[in-house]
Amino acid sequence: MTLRLHNTLSREIETFTPIEPNHVRMYVCGITIYDLCHVGHARFLMVFDMISRWLRTLGYRVTYVRNITDIDDKIIRRALEIGVPIRELTTQMTQAMHADIAALGIEPPTHEPRATQHVPQMLDMIRTLEQRGLAYRATSGDVNFAVRKFAGYGKLSGKSIDQLRSGERVAVGEGKDDPLDFVLWKAAKGSEPDDAKWNSPFGPGRPGWHIECSAMCRDLLGEHFDIHGGGIDLQFPHHENEIAQSEGATGRPFVNYWLHNGSLNVDNVKMSKSLGNFFTIRDVLKHFDGETLRLFMLRTHYRSPLNFSSANLEDARSALRRLYTALSGISGLELHGAAIDWSAGPAAAFRAAMNDDFNTAGALAVLFELASEVNRTGALAQAALLKSLGSVLGLLQQPPMQFLQAGSGLDEAGIAARIAERVAAKQARDFALADRIRQELADQGIELQDSPQGTTWVKA
Ligand SMILES: [Zn+2]
Repeated sequence: MTLRLHNTLSREIETFTPIEPNHVRMYVCGITIYDLCHVGHARFLMVFDMISRWLRTLGYRVTYVRNITDIDDKIIRRALEIGVPIRELTTQMTQAMHADIAALGIEPPTHEPRATQHVPQMLDMIRTLEQRGLAYRATSGDVNFAVRKFAGYGKLSGKSIDQLRSGERVAVGEGKDDPLDFVLWKAAKGSEPDDAKWNSPFGPGRPGWHIECSAMCRDLLGEHFDIHGGGIDLQFPHHENEIAQSEGATGRPFVNYWLHNGSLNVDNVKMSKSLGNFFTIRDVLKHFDGETLRLFMLRTHYRSPLNFSSANLEDARSALRRLYTALSGISGLELHGAAIDWSAGPAAAFRAAMNDDFNTAGALAVLFELASEVNRTGALAQAALLKSLGSVLGLLQQPPMQFLQAGSGLDEAGIAARIAERVAAKQARDFALADRIRQELADQGIELQDSPQGTTWVKA
């Protein structure tokens, strides 16, 4: 069974075939590091972590490149605001980003290039575009890309240049021949700090954001590669412009499959600092652990909008507890190998879901069915399969009791929550789960006493 995925370029579900057999080359637009990462970042990081894990599970070697944008208007502005050199700000923010990413259980990419380390490659590409008549020097001193000179402009958006112009707010002026023309090289302005300037044949200045990605793609993955990803907000203009630059410079196809993850809303409203509904990854990790956030995100298909709310996170936490509870009473689990027989049963259903455009909700449903089975039978082989399939998604990585004790935080509220979950399990006639919860609490020295009036507890 082969992987099928949605390609934004064709707007269709296609069979995935890499250019080199058994090797997938993937580029994902990374973070502009001027501040702490927020939960919107967590979503694309988590989505492409899930995708690279699944590609590896299918047996592909994956070269995954996720860049760092460490020169940008916002970075310059922030460094000036707080009065530190740009490099100091970006070094601090990169360290914070790496700590957040590790706390989310996200595997590091194969390469993590920084834009400032690739300025010569960007200048090379800009020179080529100028030679090919696709770039021009504006009166402002900027070098711009001429969108009307590139025949394929608009193909990722599925719109003509005129449709794009009427549908989007675009900056007019600045000596552009067409409002959709975009900057490749920004001429330095007197007010900008020296560490925001590079010398170039076009005069001192710095690269535009779009050329950064095109140059890093080519340097690390070659002119033509398999997958390019990012958030849906990057489809236009950023990714459209990357195609124009890369294909304009080489005359060859750039990327075979474009993958975009859906947006993240908070309580059904777009997250923004001005609305006060803005959460950093650190804010969330104070209350929920990385696996809970991961399960919460994987319950929604990667292309759909995701609604972030504390109720949804609480719900994900109790769902994850159900999985860990199933594993908690099984002895010998840590000695069991992680190899998965994909040919039949739950593993085959899991694989079918993942191969269907990364249907993680379907794959998770398989895990919950398997957990119910384990609660009923107590079979080690089923529990081991649950743990192995969970780890394909980056879940169930902790010793069960460690998670359950940390997660329930056995204060009175934590115990009351577990008792309520047990009552719900009994009402649903899932007596195996109810027994598991009783046992899990007993293992932590909490004894439950049922009576017609309800359940009370004592410390054993
Ligand atoms: Zn990019």
